[in-house]
Amino acid sequence: MAKRNLRIVRDHPLLGICEYCNMQFSCGLMPIEAAKDDIQERFNAHECEQQDFAQDAARITKKATKD
Ligand SMILES: [Zn+2]
Repeated sequence: MAKRNLRIVRDHPLLGICEYCNMQFSCGLMPIEAAKDDIQERFNAHECEQQDFAQDAARITKKATKD
């Protein structure tokens, strides 16, 4: 299993990113601890997709727009 790390890039609304596959996790929950728990949980559950960053970025952008 590849080593991966969740990096917090923004505090409000909370935005974290997987340093391994660049997947983004955002959460607007308050307090901030609850949001951090939420994205940490989703980070732990996600499967890294490192094969195509360009496609991944497009998907993230689309999702971000919807949010
Ligand atoms: Zn990942």
